[in-house]
Amino acid sequence: MLPLIYHPIYSDFPLPEGHRYPLQKYRLLYERLSACNLPVTFDQPTAADRRVIEPVHDHGYINHLIKGELPLAKMRRIGFPWSEALITRSLTSLGGTTLTVDHALETGLAIHLTGGYHHAHYDFGSGFCLFNDLMIAARHALSHRGIDRVLIVDCDVHHGDGTAALAADHPDIITFSVHCEKNFPSRKPPSTIDLPLPKGTGDDDYLGAFLPLLELAIAQYRPDMVIYDAGVDIHRDDALGYLDVSTNGIYQRDLGVLSCCKHNQIPVAAVIGGGYHDNHDTLVPLHEQLIRAALHVTEKQ
Ligand SMILES: [Zn+2]
Repeated sequence: MLPLIYHPIYSDFPLPEGHRYPLQKYRLLYERLSACNLPVTFDQPTAADRRVIEPVHDHGYINHLIKGELPLAKMRRIGFPWSEALITRSLTSLGGTTLTVDHALETGLAIHLTGGYHHAHYDFGSGFCLFNDLMIAARHALSHRGIDRVLIVDCDVHHGDGTAALAADHPDIITFSVHCEKNFPSRKPPSTIDLPLPKGTGDDDYLGAFLPLLELAIAQYRPDMVIYDAGVDIHRDDALGYLDVSTNGIYQRDLGVLSCCKHNQIPVAAVIGGGYHDNHDTLVPLHEQLIRAALHVTEKQ
């Protein structure tokens, strides 16, 4: 059984009418998956304790954010209006990514039905990201016996700037970002490995550049765990991405990452990441492919 981590709060915080954040996609993905009778289990996280955030984010930033005392300009940079529900949701999704790590270490593969808040920096949030769950989950993974090096593979169309900056002084956390070179954020601090792709990159060029580099990264760094951000905003119809990857191209990417890790016997904690297609009927199946790819890989053993 494939462990999936989900909480109804992921789709439940107040947003102004017409906000571009696809708030309902989490609930719709969960409902779609639970209706399919798949060999999966669902586990519900609890809110992360701030003790797991303290080593990664600035004390003042955490305090101000949690109490709703962050200056308006800093909230604008995050892109959400402050609410108690937003904070509970963010802490719960943090708890979800660390819980996904725990399941992955137990079973080899687990998927979080949100996550990938890679634009959150040490003392500021940005681009819909408050706390960097990838970095916090990597540190959580490293606290387990036998996990000495973690590779974060970030395939969201946007560069993993916050993760790159936060991991810069951590040789045991390797960051690998494949992204559209001309896209948010404008400042891209170097990851351990960056693969910037030109606008309009299609399936063959994407997969041909990314998958061999992933093989090389795994051979060179020999990580004990992979945290995989499977953002689908690389899709050709995404509202915020400028790449030209097809629906099947995304499936091949997910299958490629999960197969490579399986082949190398590396546990994977995956998060669904970004995806901003205007139509949820199109967007949700794109995320569902990650679970389909995971089931394909685990059934093959
Ligand atoms: Zn993104």
